[in-house]
Formats: sequence, structure tokens, C-alpha cells
Amino acid sequence: MNHTISLHRAASTRLPLALSLALGLGLGLSLSACDVLGGNGTGGTGTGSGTGTDSGTGEPGMLSRDNYQATSDANGYLEIPVEVGADTSAFMVTIESEKYPTLESLTDPSGNEVLYWKDWYSSTESLTSAFFLQGNTMAFNWPVREVDGPLEPGTWTVKASTISRMGSYSGNTDVEVTVMTKADPDLTTSQVHVQIVWAQDVDQDADVVAAVEAAVERWREIWGNYGVELVESYSTSDLDPSLPFASTGSSEVQTNAERFDGQTLVLIVGETIGNDNSLFGIAGGIPGSIEPNNYTYVTLSWLAHAGSNGNFSDNEIRLMGETAAHECGHFLGLFHPVESSYNYWDALDDTSQCSTWQACENRLGSNLMFPYPICGFTSCDPQGDLTPQQEGVWQRYIGAL
Ligand SMILES: [Zn+2]
Repeated sequence: MNHTISLHRAASTRLPLALSLALGLGLGLSLSACDVLGGNGTGGTGTGSGTGTDSGTGEPGMLSRDNYQATSDANGYLEIPVEVGADTSAFMVTIESEKYPTLESLTDPSGNEVLYWKDWYSSTESLTSAFFLQGNTMAFNWPVREVDGPLEPGTWTVKASTISRMGSYSGNTDVEVTVMTKADPDLTTSQVHVQIVWAQDVDQDADVVAAVEAAVERWREIWGNYGVELVESYSTSDLDPSLPFASTGSSEVQTNAERFDGQTLVLIVGETIGNDNSLFGIAGGIPGSIEPNNYTYVTLSWLAHAGSNGNFSDNEIRLMGETAAHECGHFLGLFHPVESSYNYWDALDDTSQCSTWQACENRLGSNLMFPYPICGFTSCDPQGDLTPQQEGVWQRYIGAL
């Protein structure tokens, strides 16, 4: 019953063993969530205490940001009010803590509980990874789907909790809360800013730089077909090119992200990820948070794409562009339409609920968010399609402006 959400993309085959091994690489993000929350999800009605200052500095009419310190109550709960104005189209709540912050419920201004963790926790459909213990950061974007919106103006309440590593609710725990809202009147087109960060000295290899730049054009083409304009910038860093953070966050990631404006995705290009030569890329969350924290990253391995000879073919360059578009697609809130176990799906109506590899590859194999590339001996099939509902998830993401 453990729900596996896979945030990575790796070379894979149809063999069940290989699939389960590949899936296993991504399990760090869902941990043993079932065991952890199973017996502890009831009780507790208190509200957390909040202290802090309003530091909203966003552009008027687009993004606003409020950041403050708070403490969960004696039972480990915390209520976060979100003020939604008539022009607010989406919000994101990010919580950082030494414990595991997770989403309990969401209540609209009329008092209706529109989300409750138990309804989604052991569901075969995935809506947001905020329900699962991922580490010391929780990111929750709302609405996710068109059917979840538009937002009713008034005060929404996000109820969260702080959970210990051993799985019990951890009371009186300090957290840092960030509430962002966006007022984007157009949910059909947007720009998404991405900082492409070279791990140390990766940019010294002209062939790698040329391949990444060519891959970015494939990525731009995919996103552009679905109303998202990719606006990329490049920067260097001293991050270790053997990227250590596969499914776990890192303070280095936060330090890196803090160099930018807090409104951008961060794609780190390294040689390998987690010492796995077949791991193409990983996203820091579904969704990820543009608020700089330990999980503000998408990683891309150039070597996994170039293969053992270290040289890029046109096919490998295209695949690298699709991986970047795919992993950043997770960061914008998209799950795989079907996981590679073929028994977990996204919560969208217009992606097939196929349940065998044949049916899934036939119906969803060209989808950008399919969990693995479908390859022959010399090349892989293009994967760049999105459904209208998948596109809608992206447009509602806080960082799609
Ligand atoms: Zn994926």
C-alpha cells in the first residue's frame, strides 16, 4: 500500500525487475509514508501560533510573498491562513522545519474542507506530494487542476503538521512559513524562468555546453507547444558535478538558489546524480518550491545522456531536452500519468488509466510525463505531448507568470 511517487527519470526497459529497481531510486521522497502516518492521523484541533513580520515584496498584480516564523501546537498542528483576493489565481505554501512538515487539510473561506490527507494518502491517484513526508520542506500549490478552481476570495486555511522521523506528531516545533500568491489573469499562457546552473567546471567542456544548449531548444519547443515560454539564464557554481542530492535536499541547494530572485526554477547540470550513471534527472518535488530551500532544484546528468562513450548523438541531445522538460514538469506540479508499476496514476481525467505496459506505452508513450523513455537499439521515441489538463496544472503553478 505504500504509495510510490517517482520524481526521477532513468534509463529503463520493460522488464519488471528493472522497472521496480528504477522506481526504487525515487522512493526516498515518499519514505515509508504509509507506516508513518497510518496510526496517527486523528485528533488535534488546536491552531499553531505564529509570530513574524509581513515581508511581501512581490510585484504588484503578480506575485506576493509573506514569510514568517511559527510554531506547531502541542499536538503538532499548524494552521496557516491564506488571504485570497478577487484577483488571486493561485497560491503556494512552503513550510521548512527540522521535522517533516506535511499537509493535513485545506479549507475554503466558506468553511468547506476541500482536501483531507486521508482521502489522498493511500489513493491510487496522486494530486500533490505535500501529503507525503519528503524531508524538511513541504510545498503545496493550489489550485492544482481546473476543477479545483477558481479560488473563492476570502481566507483559506492550510492545516499542516510537523512529524518526527519516527512517525509521530511532533508538538511545539518551530517552522518557517512562506505564503506566495499570484494574480495572473491569463491561465492559458505564461513564462517560466529557469536558472541553468553548471556544476563546477562542467561549463569548461565545450561539447557538453553545446549539447545542453541544443537540448534546451528541444525543451523550449515542447513547452512552447503548450503555452509555456521558457526563459532561461545560465550561471556557474562550485557545486560538485557528482551531484550528491538525488532524492534528498541539501543546504548547498538552498545557498545556490538564494543567489537568484526567488521566482525561478533552478536546473543544475552535473556529470552524474547519486553516483548512478543511468539516472537522467530528478526533480526536488511535485510541485517544487521556487522559494529557495533545500529542495529548490532539478538536476540533470549530462553523462547519463551521453552514454558510455561520452559523446552526444542527436538522439541523446533530444532525450536530454525531453528530460529537462519532464523533470521541470514535475517541479511545476505534474505527476506521471501512470507510474511504471502501472497501478498508480495522476488525478487528471484526460490521461489514460491504463494498467499494462502495452496499453500504457500505446496510449501514453508519447506523453512528456511518461515515466521512462521508450527506446530501440539506436534511438528513443519522441516524448513531448501534454494533455489539456496537464497543461492546466502548469499554468496554475505559482512560478508560471
Ligand atoms: Zn518523472
